[in-house]
Amino acid sequence: MMKAEYRNIHAALGGREILKGISLQVPEGGMTGIIGPNGCGKSTFVKTTFGICPYQQGEILVDGIPVKQLGRKKLAARVGYVGQDAGTVFNFSVYEVVAMAVNLRRSGKTAVIRKVLSDLHILHLEERGIQTLSGGERKMVFLARAIVQGVDFIILDEPTNHLDISRQLFLLDYLKRSGKTVLVVLHDLRLAAHYCDRLYLMRDGEAVCSGTPLEVLTEENVKRVFGVSGQAIYSDEEGGDFCLHMKARQTAH
Ligand code: ADP
Ligand code: MG
Repeated sequence: MMKAEYRNIHAALGGREILKGISLQVPEGGMTGIIGPNGCGKSTFVKTTFGICPYQQGEILVDGIPVKQLGRKKLAARVGYVGQDAGTVFNFSVYEVVAMAVNLRRSGKTAVIRKVLSDLHILHLEERGIQTLSGGERKMVFLARAIVQGVDFIILDEPTNHLDISRQLFLLDYLKRSGKTVLVVLHDLRLAAHYCDRLYLMRDGEAVCSGTPLEVLTEENVKRVFGVSGQAIYSDEEGGDFCLHMKARQTAH
């Protein structure tokens, strides 16, 4: 069963074609990763889901329903979003930012919100202004908001940016354990290899290949797209997980 399906998405920004016909499938319950070099269109792509970036051609389905048919409210009830540069215009408190995800007039939500903040180790920040937080802390707040929203599908754009290694692992473990469907843009190929069930490798507005980390992160693909040598291998020592071995040596494109 597919949680989301993107069919042949074309998008142009400022007169330039940014997405050149991307198709991508997000299986229910799994963690699907998008990787690719800076500027290849990853953020633009995930933003099309919510209409934050318009697309000129193609179709996006969530739970089998075209998002254009769902409309904003119903879409927000099905999909959470943690953007790359999570911020707000106003300096709301952490608690308020998270509470915006739910109906404030409904009572009994305080305990739910505080439980999620506590689970994500940010309860001590609840009264702080969102704009006073570090980038990493802010990411956790927006993740909390998506969790409180009660959705079973979350899209995250480089959620591990600004997080130290312990919090990077915590966040991805948390998502994995949550059983939610996750579509995540990841910068770190090692994390992508380790956590994602399936990967889409993007280059210049196109998905050049997709499959398991082992299928996608071959030496040839990594060299072709990133210009460094490395490949995913299966390691028994790590409990049968995939891990990426990389020599961060630049090679000619
Ligand atoms: P990624 O997330 O993969 O780093 P982005 O999706 O942010 O890449 O950007 C893809 C390309 O689209 C980049 O070349 C970027 O400069 C361009 N771009 C992004 N937003 C806009 C915009 N609003 N207007 C014009 N070009 C844009
Ligand atoms: Mg981006």
